[in-house]
Amino acid sequence: MKRVALAITIGVLALVAAAAQSRRPAGTTHTGDAFRFNKVKEGIYHAVGTGALAVVGNSSFIVNDNDVIVVDDHVSPAAAWVLLEEIKKITPKPVTTVINTHFHFDHAHGNQIFDPAVQIIGHEFTRRMLLNNSIGMPLYQNYVTGLPTQIEALKKQIASATDPAARTKLQTQLQVTENNLASQKELKLTPPNVTLTTQMTLYRGKREIQIRYLGRGHTAGDVVVYLPNEKVVMTGDFLTAALSNMSDSFPNEWADSLDALKKLDFDTVLPGHGEAFTDKAKIDYFQAYLRDVWSEVSKLKQQGVSAEEASKRADLTRHKDHLPIQGPGVPLIGVQRIYSLLDGKS
Ligand SMILES: [Zn+2]
Repeated sequence: MKRVALAITIGVLALVAAAAQSRRPAGTTHTGDAFRFNKVKEGIYHAVGTGALAVVGNSSFIVNDNDVIVVDDHVSPAAAWVLLEEIKKITPKPVTTVINTHFHFDHAHGNQIFDPAVQIIGHEFTRRMLLNNSIGMPLYQNYVTGLPTQIEALKKQIASATDPAARTKLQTQLQVTENNLASQKELKLTPPNVTLTTQMTLYRGKREIQIRYLGRGHTAGDVVVYLPNEKVVMTGDFLTAALSNMSDSFPNEWADSLDALKKLDFDTVLPGHGEAFTDKAKIDYFQAYLRDVWSEVSKLKQQGVSAEEASKRADLTRHKDHLPIQGPGVPLIGVQRIYSLLDGKS
């Protein structure tokens, strides 16, 4: 009797393993941990890539009484897959819910690996973008078309490297980039299957998890995940540890939307890029930058300067004490966005 039960158990386990194996995406091979988990409060973790695998953005996860909620799922199916594998070292509880802070590739391109029963929550705009070929837009196109070039460059560097340590490092970078490209080839855009427009709250035991839209900013549909009891907010790229990409942004509205963030009562920010932080003055610095970048670039456009030229000339160096700014210049993709908005296009 016992032997029969054991055989059945093993059979079921083998089936589960086979199913999992067949779903494993390409490009998950890596050496060492792909993530460093920074535990900021009980059950609340910030997942930051170590460089062993291309993950690009940060994710966060919340371990509740009976389940796990993941906020953002990285740049590829492979990265999301490995995130789930590494979360298993912290807890055996199942991931039931994923929240996309916005539609960008480095936050939502892991969506496809989740079982259809998993709720993927995002703003209605995020769903619309992921349904309507967001990968055709410049941000992702620039990224993905750059990967083969990076691979060729790394191969050349490896061929000419004489120092063994430098060579090993380059070989790791090559493996990371090749794996990323392999995973990008399997990409199937998967939009949120649950949407919101202003606010939604999830309750898990004593935990309250608010998903809030605070106005247009980094995109037209960024949400933040706010835990009022723990005073933690996960901000995606609406607020990072430094500067944020502006390719799909509304820089002229963003600072005001950040005022709405300031009204929440929190002490810890888990951003979509960079380390977790507690210094709220970072919001003021970023707001000041956004207001200036808008007026600076607008001025250049009024003078008839091309976007390319404005991208070199726009001078935001007065913000260099608080933000990573080395000299004049603003990324072209951001300048082009501001030019489009000034022309009445978005
Ligand atoms: Zn990002």
